[in-house]
Amino acid sequence: MDLAKQLEGFIDATEDDCLLMELIQGELNIKALEKNHYKKYFRNDVKRAWGFKCYHCGGNVKSDEAEAYYIVSITWKVSNTRGNRFCTNDCSNVYYNREMKMMLKKRKQLLEAREQIRK
Ligand SMILES: [Zn+2]
Repeated sequence: MDLAKQLEGFIDATEDDCLLMELIQGELNIKALEKNHYKKYFRNDVKRAWGFKCYHCGGNVKSDEAEAYYIVSITWKVSNTRGNRFCTNDCSNVYYNREMKMMLKKRKQLLEAREQIRK
């Protein structure tokens, strides 16, 4: 018996309760994604220039050439707390919009599942 099932039995949650909890978690994730999409300026006081490859287009971004870059971080995925870096706002938006779309789709599915229960 897995832990989730044990907890379910323990607090005697209905399927509807579980969907509601998933919905709440989803809302928190949506808010977190909105908050963790931002522009970051390169520091100009570092001696050695550094760079990275844009997570979307693969283009090189260098601290001594560019002024700023963009970050989208999905904080609830533990392995990815520092976020992905992008060369432009357009590139970051592609990734951001895709993640957001998936979360909104999940929300819609959960809402529909709850409606089914109520029928
Ligand atoms: Zn890019």
